[in-house]
Amino acid sequence: DAINRVSTIFDSLSLTFMNNSTPAIIFENIEKSFGSLKVLKGISGEINRGEVIAVIGSSGCGKSTLLRCFNRLESINHGRLVVNGIDLSHPEINYSQLRELRTQVGMVFQQFNLFPHLSVLENLTLSPRKVLGKTPKESAQLAGLYLEKVGLFDKASAYPEQLSGGQKQRVAIARSLCMNPQIMLFDEPTSALDPELVGEVLQVMQQLAAEGMTMVVVTHEMQFAKEVAHRVIFLDQGLVVEQGIAHEVLTHPQSDRLRTFLSRLN
Ligand code: ADP
Ligand code: MG
Repeated sequence: DAINRVSTIFDSLSLTFMNNSTPAIIFENIEKSFGSLKVLKGISGEINRGEVIAVIGSSGCGKSTLLRCFNRLESINHGRLVVNGIDLSHPEINYSQLRELRTQVGMVFQQFNLFPHLSVLENLTLSPRKVLGKTPKESAQLAGLYLEKVGLFDKASAYPEQLSGGQKQRVAIARSLCMNPQIMLFDEPTSALDPELVGEVLQVMQQLAAEGMTMVVVTHEMQFAKEVAHRVIFLDQGLVVEQGIAHEVLTHPQSDRLRTFLSRLN
């Protein structure tokens, strides 16, 4: 019990010492395998607060796995990983830290992952009520605020199946924002959308970026990466092959592998 108390004090101290100059995410030489398949082969980087990072690379190169390590949907096998001050380097993590992490780090998936049996409003208010302990009124106010932000205030009582893909994804983004996250992870948020619906989702993301949200975005939208991302990380077969200022890396790729990858997209 005493040990628990001390560790709680340390947790809150480490949060107190964390300020805006602490990187949002630090990863050093991280490795991740599934059985004998080594997916991340020792990759390193830092993501600063307010930065927008695009993660690009061919299918199967490890982009989703990297993102999933950042919010502990996967644990790493080797290396050092600290997300918003929470150390995820070790195979064990205590429940309160995991809960904290999941609150501070929002994730948006390709397939939206909305609860089909809940209305838009209920999708948005569920976690604020269950996880943050907000009252129904407080959580409905939050939900209204973020639905307004993504331009879907009038859809509060609709069910997911009544929405277009672009609207579903905007609802998914609003749902994440209701938790007041410090970091947002996007895993190919527009890949499942009809081309004419991609723009409305990217526009919401661009607005978030402009407001200073720290964002890690796995995407094949190179125009978005060039214009909105500050930096880009190009992964190939589980390694970082190139990274740097988005516009520079994407207009002047240094490696054959990135050149080939970019030319295949066109
Ligand atoms: P990307 O998102 O870049 O397409 P992923 O990170 O999803 O790539 O996958 C990288 C590799 O890891 C692929 O070969 C994939 O099949 C494999 N993989 C991903 N998740 C699992 C898992 N849970 N179990 C086994 N293999 C996995
Ligand atoms: Mg993926």
